[in-house]
Amino acid sequence: MTDDARLPDCLVEPGPLTAAAAILAMSRHLNCGGACLPRRRAEDAIGAEYVPSLPAEAPDDAYLAERLREATRLLAERAHNRPLK
Ligand SMILES: [Zn+2]
Repeated sequence: MTDDARLPDCLVEPGPLTAAAAILAMSRHLNCGGACLPRRRAEDAIGAEYVPSLPAEAPDDAYLAERLREATRLLAERAHNRPLK
């Protein structure tokens, strides 16, 4: 068993995530390694919605944490300005 796969959730392919689901997944899997499927999907979803030009190299945890804060803030603003029915 490795640290990368210590949680069963990490082995489940979540499929494409909404922005809200991606943020939730990222917050739960922020410290996971590259083998974590939910984290990879969350990176894809958050990157696609909020970060059109990700750096070519793998982003580090500090970068992802910053993106997570930004995405959380934007999502909160969106929810505040345009509440979903
Ligand atoms: Zn994980």
